[in-house]
Amino acid sequence: MIHPRRPDGDDDSAWIELRLLATSDLHMHIHCYDYFRDRPSGKCGLSALADLIDQARDEAPNVLLFDNGDFLQGSPLGDLALADPALGDSPAPHPMIAAMNELGYDAITLGNHEFNFGIPALERALADAGFPVALANVQRAPEPGSERTRPFLTPYVLLDRQVTDRSGRIRNLRIGVLGLVTPMIAVWDHAHLAGRLEVLDPVETARALVPRMRAEGADLVVALHHSGVGNAEWTAGMENAAIPLARQCGIDVQILGHSHQIFPAADFDGQDGVDVPGGCIGGIPAVMPGSFGSHLGQIDLTLRLQADGAQVMSAAVRLHPAPDAPPAGRTAGRIASGMSGAHLRTLDHIRAQVGRADTPFDSYFALVAGDPTLSLMAEAQGNFVRQALSGSRWKDWPVLSAMATFLAGGRGGPENFSDIPAGPLLMRHATEMHRFPNAVRALAVSGAGLAEWLERSAAQFHQIAPGSRDRLLIDPAMPSYNFDVIYGLTYAIDLSVPPRFGPTGERRSAGGPRIADLRHQGRPVAPDDRFVVATNSYRACGGGGFPGLAGLEPVLTAPELSCDILIWHLRTVGSVRADRSAVWRFVAMPGTSALFDTGPGAAQILSDHHGPEDRRITPLGLTGAGFLRCRLDL
Ligand code: MN
Ligand code: MG
Repeated sequence: MIHPRRPDGDDDSAWIELRLLATSDLHMHIHCYDYFRDRPSGKCGLSALADLIDQARDEAPNVLLFDNGDFLQGSPLGDLALADPALGDSPAPHPMIAAMNELGYDAITLGNHEFNFGIPALERALADAGFPVALANVQRAPEPGSERTRPFLTPYVLLDRQVTDRSGRIRNLRIGVLGLVTPMIAVWDHAHLAGRLEVLDPVETARALVPRMRAEGADLVVALHHSGVGNAEWTAGMENAAIPLARQCGIDVQILGHSHQIFPAADFDGQDGVDVPGGCIGGIPAVMPGSFGSHLGQIDLTLRLQADGAQVMSAAVRLHPAPDAPPAGRTAGRIASGMSGAHLRTLDHIRAQVGRADTPFDSYFALVAGDPTLSLMAEAQGNFVRQALSGSRWKDWPVLSAMATFLAGGRGGPENFSDIPAGPLLMRHATEMHRFPNAVRALAVSGAGLAEWLERSAAQFHQIAPGSRDRLLIDPAMPSYNFDVIYGLTYAIDLSVPPRFGPTGERRSAGGPRIADLRHQGRPVAPDDRFVVATNSYRACGGGGFPGLAGLEPVLTAPELSCDILIWHLRTVGSVRADRSAVWRFVAMPGTSALFDTGPGAAQILSDHHGPEDRRITPLGLTGAGFLRCRLDL
C-alpha cells in the first residue's frame, strides 16, 4: 500500500533518499562517431553515459533523470535530421529524441541552440519526446490585435513519483521541475524569435512561478537552468544567472550547463557564491555535467518530509566522467541500433564532394596570422553579398567581409582545428567550418564603426609589454568565434595597448586604440567613410557584444545559411588554394615574444613550410592538455 505523503512523526518514514541525474550540452553527441572527421571516435556522447545511468539507477531506489538543453545542434547528424523535410512525414523520430526516449528521461529543458533551426523544426523534433519539456521564460507572442501572450511549452511540470522511504515503505512525492534558458536567445536567434516568441528574465520568471508550484503541492523544486554560473549580483537579462536564481527564487536544487564547464570543480575555488567542496552554488546543491556527454551529473539528496514539503537535509554532488571504453550495456546498444538509419544517411551526406582543395587547408594559426579557412569563408560570403546587392542602392558601396572561426582550439581542445589535406573537399569539411546554422547578413558601417568593430575583436589578446618575453598571448576567456577578421581591409594590432573591451564585449574605461594603420585599398580609412560589411545573423543581432552593431538596420537579410553559401561557392569555383595573405599584422615589438597554443598538427605545417611566412613562429612542445605551445616573435 501507499502511505500518505505527510508522515506523522519523525521516524524513518519521514526520510527519503532521492537521486537526481543530469546531462547537459550533449550537442548531438549520441554515439562513438565523429562526423566532421568521418571516423569512429573515442568520445561516445550520450551512449557512453547510458551505462553510467543504468548503474546509477541500479544502486539507488529513487532516481530521476534530467537534461538541461543544447542537445539538438552540434553535428551533421543533427543538421540533417532537422533540415530533412521528409522527417515531418516520416515515422522516425529525431535521433537524439529517440535516444532520450530510450533512456527514459523524466523531464528536460531547452538550451539556446535548440532555437538555431527555427521554431517549426524545433517543434517537429520535440513532437516525438516521450517526456515533458519544461520552459518557463519563453512564451508565444500575442496574436495580432491581442495583448495576451500564450504558453510556448509547459513552464514547469509536477512529477508525481512513488518513492521508497528509509523504512522501506512506498510514498508519493511531488517533484516540481522548472525549465529556464539563458535570455540571450532573444539576441542570438533574433531572426527566428522576433514576432513569434518572447523571452523573459529567468530570475523574475522563477520568482513568480515557484510559489505557484509550492501552492500546487510541489514537495521539492528543481530548476533545470540552461545557464552558467556568472556574477553573484543580479541584473535583468544577464546571460548566466545561477547565483541569483539560487538565492532569490526559493528553489531547492539547480542543474546548470551552457558554459560547458563541470561543477563541482576546482576551477570555481574562491568564486563569490560558490562552495566547491559542498557542491553548492548560491547556497543550494548544483551540478554542471560538462559537454558532449563528457560527464553524468549526480545529486544525492536526503529529504525530510514536513508539513510544508520536503526539506533538503543534506546533499552529495558528484560527477561521473564518461568511461574511455565504448559502452557495452543494453541501453547503449538499443540507442546505437535505433539510430543506424540516421547514421547511414548522415555518412552519405558528409561524404558528398563539394569541391577540390589544390593545397592543404588548416586553421592552426587563425588567431595569429592570415588563415586560409577564414579567407575562403570570407570570400564566399563577400561574393554572395556583392551579387545580392547588385542592382540595389548599395551596389556602388565597397563590400567587406567579416569572418571568425570556431575552430581555434580553446575549450574545444587540441583537436578543435581544421586540418584538410589537398584533394576532394567534402560536405563534412564545409559543415565543420560553419558549424552553427547562422544566416548571411550585410550591414552599412562607417569607418569609425569599423574601427570599433576591430577594437572589440582585438580583445582576443592580452596586453604585452614591449621587451617582455614569453607572456601568454591569447585571452582564453574570449572564444575565437568573436575574433572577427575583416577582409577587404588591412590593419595592425598594437599589443602594447590594453584592450578597450573585455572578453565578453564589456567596454572598459581605459584602453585602446589597439587598431592602427587601418586602410582600404591602400588608403587610410576616414571616420565617415561608408562600407557594406558582410557578416552573419549571430553578429548582426548582437552576438559577441560588438559595439553599435545590434542597432543597425541590415542592408541585406538573406535566408541562406553561411554554410550553404560556402558550399555553393565551392561548387561554382571548383577548386581552391590556401590563401594566407596578411589582412592584419601585430605592430612590431623588437625583442618581444609571446606564447600561444595550437593543435599538435601545426608542427607538420610549420616543418612543411605551409604555415604563415610573415610571422616568426617556433614550436616549443606539448602542454599537459595536449596543445602545441609555440613562441611568436613580435
Ligand atoms: Mn552548449
Ligand atoms: Mg548553451
